[in-house]
Amino acid sequence: MPWARASSLGRSLHCPASAVLPGPDGGEVLSWETQEAADWGTMVHHWKATGEILAMTPWARHHSFFEEVLSRTFTDPEAARRILWPPGGEHEVAVAVRCDGEKRPEHCVRFKRDGTTVEKEAWKAAFGPEWATGTMDYRLRVDGAVTIDDLKTGVGRYNPDTGARESTPPGSEQHGLYVLADWLVHGRSNTASRTTTTHWPRPRIPSTNRRRSLTALPPPTRLGHGWLYQDLDNFHNQLIMGYELTGIARLSPEAFAVVGDDCRFCPALVNCPSGRRFEAEQGRGPDAIQEEDVRP
Ligand code: SF4
Repeated sequence: MPWARASSLGRSLHCPASAVLPGPDGGEVLSWETQEAADWGTMVHHWKATGEILAMTPWARHHSFFEEVLSRTFTDPEAARRILWPPGGEHEVAVAVRCDGEKRPEHCVRFKRDGTTVEKEAWKAAFGPEWATGTMDYRLRVDGAVTIDDLKTGVGRYNPDTGARESTPPGSEQHGLYVLADWLVHGRSNTASRTTTTHWPRPRIPSTNRRRSLTALPPPTRLGHGWLYQDLDNFHNQLIMGYELTGIARLSPEAFAVVGDDCRFCPALVNCPSGRRFEAEQGRGPDAIQEEDVRP
């Protein structure tokens, strides 16, 4: 199994114990609500890549509701899709980056572009513990400049400082892994590297066939982040150090537990006394719903 997944790479780097402590016995079991959120995300990602809306089992109303959402949000949904993710870019590219200090591109980066989602997941899972893996939602390269977009359909985390719900920022470690992979295979020569987060939180899906009034729906929002040569070089070194630290943390995981915002959605929380203490101090219990990234 790889050391880290892109979606939880930030937590693996902030808290080495999180990559070492086991999750709940029996593996991760998604709640009904979380599974629904994940399947909604899968449907929207498929539309992003193809323009098709697939019916999804067992959610009989999702696809018709999404059609309604599209028609209420855009005067021309297909034109909007092509503006947000222009033709010529690649969708759903699985990527693996080696984190044990090997820096030669031919040895430390892998991509998988073909195959189904299930095949890409199996491809990623087959990497050894010195790798970090993920899937770029969209990648566009024009004249040496690359843009990598990550589409988020979760409702986002509440920010008490701003009072708003916010998605993963476009300069996150997850984005860093994607842009680093691209930068390495192109000989560290990108003239510009940019990552974006397109946040399109799912609306509440009606629980009956009764049509809800959907008078107005906010369109997706997009935030961007630029990466300079030095940013990417530093991030690569940060990955290597994080991987090394995880190896040391295996000897005494609790000594490497770093509590914080990551604890709330950490799968290891159930086996982490420090994290449970911290969550209790915050007045929170275990939270079953991972709002931000429930897609694999
Ligand atoms: S619960 Fe918090 S402190 Fe414990 S492993 Fe997870 S992120 Fe680290």
